[in-house]
Amino acid sequence: MAWKTLDDMDLAGKTAPVRVDINVPVEDGRVTDATRIEKIVPTVKDILAKGGKPILLAHFGRPKGQRVEGMSLKVTLPALEAALGTTVTFAEDCIGLPAKTAVAGMQPGQVVLLENTRFHPGEEKNDPQLAAAMAALGEVYVNDAFSAAHRAHASTEGLARLLPACAGRLMEAELTALEAALGNPERPVAAVVGGAKVSTKLELLGNLVAKVDHLVIGGGMANTFLLAQGVEVGQSLAERDMTGTAREILDKARETGCNVILPQDVVVAREFKAGAESQIVAADACPADAMILDAGPQTVETICATFETCKTLIWNGPLGAFEIEPFDAATNAAAAKAAELTRAGALISVAGGGDTVAALNRAGAAAGFTYISTAGGAFLEWMEGKALPGVEALEAE
Ligand code: ADP
Ligand code: MG
Repeated sequence: MAWKTLDDMDLAGKTAPVRVDINVPVEDGRVTDATRIEKIVPTVKDILAKGGKPILLAHFGRPKGQRVEGMSLKVTLPALEAALGTTVTFAEDCIGLPAKTAVAGMQPGQVVLLENTRFHPGEEKNDPQLAAAMAALGEVYVNDAFSAAHRAHASTEGLARLLPACAGRLMEAELTALEAALGNPERPVAAVVGGAKVSTKLELLGNLVAKVDHLVIGGGMANTFLLAQGVEVGQSLAERDMTGTAREILDKARETGCNVILPQDVVVAREFKAGAESQIVAADACPADAMILDAGPQTVETICATFETCKTLIWNGPLGAFEIEPFDAATNAAAAKAAELTRAGALISVAGGGDTVAALNRAGAAAGFTYISTAGGAFLEWMEGKALPGVEALEAE
C-alpha cells in the first residue's frame, strides 16, 4: 500500500485542507442522519491533536457549478459542532477572500468548514485553477472521502497533486479493508453477488470471476443465469437479452477455476407482497405463473458450507427480495453465518452497496462483519477492479 496516512505527516502549526464526505440527508433545514459527519470525527480530532488546523472541503447535493441557496453546507454546522465538540467557523466560499479570511483567523483547536465545492463549475471538471486556489489555503492535504474517490474532481484529485497528501482515518480504514478483501486477500476467497439485475453488475462479475475462488450468484440476477442454462423461470425478474453474457461469465469461470454457486432450490410466489403464499421448489421447477423471490434452504446450506472453507468474503447484493418477508430468509441466514465466522476469527468479511448495507442491517448482522463500506459507487467501482482517481493521486505522491 503506497499511500501515506496521518501518521506519516508533520502537521504541527500547519493548515490542512481535508476533503470529507458530509453529504448528509437534510429535512426542513436539519440534518436527519449524522452518520457521515460522525465518521470524520477521528480524522479531524487527530489533526487537531497533532497541532494542525483542519479546514473542511466537501460537496453537498448536485448544484452543478452554481451557487444554490438550498445546497449550502451551512446547514451541517450544528451537527458538525455537536459531533466534534468544538466551534466550527463557516466560510461562504471554498476559495478566495471568504476562505482566506476564515483560515487566517483560526485559533488552535478550531475547525473551519468551507462552502460547497460544487458551487464552482471547476470542481467536477477538475479545473487546475480551482485546485490551485484550494491548495493556496493550506500546506498538507488530507483526503478522507473514499466515497468521492471514484471521481477525479478538483478537491479529490487535483488538490492531491499540489500538496503533500495523505489518507484520513476513514479513508485509511476503507483502503485497508478493501486491500485485505480483494487486493491481497487470504485464500480461499468467496464473493456473493446478488441484487436485481445482471446488466448493472456485469463488470463486477467479470472482475470477480478472475479473482475469487467461489462466486455465489443470487437475487434476481441468478434468474438470468438459470435461463442461460436453459432453465425456465416463469414470471421471475430476469433479463432474457443477457443470457449470452451470463454464459460468457460462466465460461470464464470455468477457465479461471472459479466455482460458481447458483441456486439449487428457490422460494417462489405468485405475488410480491408481505405474507404472500410461498413455496420452496427445485431451481428448475419454478411454475410458469410464479416468480423466484429468494434462494432456498439447500442453497443457503451450500453457501454457509462454502463460507466455512473460506478465509475471506466479499459481498454485494442481497440473495433475495429482502425488503419483504419471508423473502429475506436466505440473505439473513447467510449474513448471520458470515458474522458468526467473522466473530470467531475465521473469516475476513467486507460488504458494501446501498441495498446490501440495508439488508445486512435488517438481518442484524452488519456489526459482525469486518468492514461495511458505505461508499456506494466508489465501493462498486473498486470491486469492478477500476482505479479510483482520488486514491491514485494519493499513491502517486
Ligand atoms: P445494492 O444496492 O446492494 O448494490 P442492488 O440494487 O443490485 O443491490 O439489488 C437490490 C435489489 O434487488 C433489492 O431491491 C431486491 O428486492 C432486489 N432483488 C433481489 N432478489 C430479487 C428477486 N429474486 N426478484 C426481484 N428482485 C430481487
Ligand atoms: Mg441498489
